[in-house]
Amino acid sequence: MNLDAKVPGGPLEDKWDRHKKDLRLVSPANKRKFDVIIVGSGLAGASAAASLAELGYNVSCFCFQDSPRRAHSIAAQGGINAAKNYQNDGDSSWRLFHDTIKGGDFRAREGNVYRLAQVSANIIDQCVAQGVPFAREYGGLLANRSFGGAQVSRTFYARGQTGQQLLIGAYQALERQIGKGTVTMYSRHEMLELVVVNGRARGIVARDLVTGEMQSFAAHTVVLGTGGYGNAFYLSTNAKGCNVTAAYRAYKKGAGFANPCFTQIHPTCIPVAGDFQSKLTLMSESLRNDGRVWVPKRAGDTRKPADIPEAERDYYLERKYPSYGNLAPRDIASRAAKEACDDGLGVGPGGRGVFLDFSSAIKRLGEDTIRERYGNLFEMYERITDENPYQTPMRIYPAVHYTMGGLWVDYNLMSNLPGLHVIGEANFSDHGANRLGASALMQGLADGYFILPYTIGDYLAGAKLEAVDTSHQAFRDAETEANARLGKLLAIDGTRSVDSFHKELGHILWEKCGMARDRAGLQEALARIPALRAEFWENVKVPGSAETLNQSLEKAGRVADFLEFGELMCSDALIREESCGGHFRTEYQTEDGEALRDDDRFAHAAVWEYQGENQTPVRHIEPLTFEFVKLATRSYK
Ligand SMILES: Cc1cc2nc3c(=O)[nH]c(=O)nc-3n(C[C@H](O)[C@H](O)[C@H](O)COP(=O)(O)OP(=O)(O)OC[C@H]3O[C@@H](n4cnc5c(N)ncnc54)[C@H](O)[C@@H]3O)c2cc1C
Repeated sequence: MNLDAKVPGGPLEDKWDRHKKDLRLVSPANKRKFDVIIVGSGLAGASAAASLAELGYNVSCFCFQDSPRRAHSIAAQGGINAAKNYQNDGDSSWRLFHDTIKGGDFRAREGNVYRLAQVSANIIDQCVAQGVPFAREYGGLLANRSFGGAQVSRTFYARGQTGQQLLIGAYQALERQIGKGTVTMYSRHEMLELVVVNGRARGIVARDLVTGEMQSFAAHTVVLGTGGYGNAFYLSTNAKGCNVTAAYRAYKKGAGFANPCFTQIHPTCIPVAGDFQSKLTLMSESLRNDGRVWVPKRAGDTRKPADIPEAERDYYLERKYPSYGNLAPRDIASRAAKEACDDGLGVGPGGRGVFLDFSSAIKRLGEDTIRERYGNLFEMYERITDENPYQTPMRIYPAVHYTMGGLWVDYNLMSNLPGLHVIGEANFSDHGANRLGASALMQGLADGYFILPYTIGDYLAGAKLEAVDTSHQAFRDAETEANARLGKLLAIDGTRSVDSFHKELGHILWEKCGMARDRAGLQEALARIPALRAEFWENVKVPGSAETLNQSLEKAGRVADFLEFGELMCSDALIREESCGGHFRTEYQTEDGEALRDDDRFAHAAVWEYQGENQTPVRHIEPLTFEFVKLATRSYK
């Protein structure tokens, strides 16, 4: 497997500018001769589709929702980072780069991350020009707040609806191109196969989810912006439709899958309430700007929070990490909450919760200010829990939220499979072993608006691409494969629902490959998952047919992929004998319980290559070298 990252040499600050100078161009008259398929219309996919069409390429964009506006990006609450230094608090591209590299526990590429910090400033200008209603100060300037893992205020936000507002901006830009006929939008279409011709990605097979028709689409290059795979865990903060299918099918066609075990656990979610829950709700990290996290000092203390005096509370984040306090990064805050609950100090039903308390902020700033900053989040919390967070602390607990693993890409955002580009959460690129808050939106939009539009031209100008259309045998084979898989799922006619398999898989992954993992647990998972998968293919019940709208069938296909992918996650976690970021192996920790990295053995991205059905995939590595930052133990104390 060729893992040449193609990061340009020279000073960090100049890499991207120099690279842009060297990239080949497609002339304006030739751009319309190139067909580009973009799968995904979230922030990454929509921004890429709009930008490429604006440049003149002929774009087809796909999503499985009924409208591109319903992509999961719409759920993002808290904000988007950019090194604008509006606050004069000392921010710079360098600091955003450094925070991101450190936050990711030194498991991301320096060149990519510096470029992300550089273009972050352009993103805000682009979005403001589109009319995104970022919060403003009294004087009219854009407002900022802080997020975990940073000591500056660089997070731009639109109340608790930042993702929604950014997506409306990108969606408008996309709709404009749809109106002009430069983008053909295929909503309610699910990509089920990647088509490779002569070693290059040349198209996809997608199913029309309304009619059930299987269709082939050919292009000169394919872009995946298909989001993350957090739903492998069943319970997560992700939209129920998020899945790994597109990325996993590309992996099966030769694209390397990097760091599949890197999952981000978010510390501030509403705790699990019962066995029949299918979704967890995030309470944005921005709340930790004003909310203080605490647990009672005495185990089993069931008094109401207001009846527990200050002296009998443990504000454990402020105690353990005095300089970052409640804004400690997500992996650290999550582990600290788990430890408190494991020690019997948890609050609420089942003892799996900690308090997020706004009483001192309300006393200091007044209820109206808090309502202005977080009103919709408070309302959402009250609707779900029937508790009023203005009067009593929220109860929160960590949950699966984001996946840092994804398809391997080089500096040009192209996978090792020529012609397959991967953007946004679907790639592995910029966050290392942990994603700091407000950086996923930044990455998705950086990829779509400001990076891919340059690098895709270089590929198209340089590649010798023969004419290929959907009559090619590779498309016929891919369609046959996809149809056969659906037919097989429908024919099983067993007794267990798709959901029951998904739930069991999710339980195994959370318990054995979740916030804390160890060798024995991972080995157990690696024995249980194949057994569960075998049962799935013998005993799953998928009602209905393939010729109509059939959401059970859609779900079954996605769960079938999770059942294979879950094994890859555990294999990856087992081999990485170190703790870093969201990946915590309990065998590798410092005396005070912090993550213990092993830079000598694991300062690399682990990239998996598919070898065929029931064959062990091969693990390759891309070594990570740090020329500009010093590898150091992460400390937020
Ligand atoms: C509750 C919540 C809050 C968040 N808050 C923040 C925040 O405040 N700040 C921040 O930076 N990040 C936040 N995040 C993370 C961030 O929202 C996501 O990482 C980001 O939006 C992902 O964007 P994307 O474009 O890569 O993917 P998505 O928005 O997930 O889009 C994926 C697209 O791919 C399509 N797709 C997927 N598979 C297929 C297929 N097989 N065929 C056809 N189409 C397919 C979907 O239809 C969709 O259009 C939050 C996440 C959650 C869950």
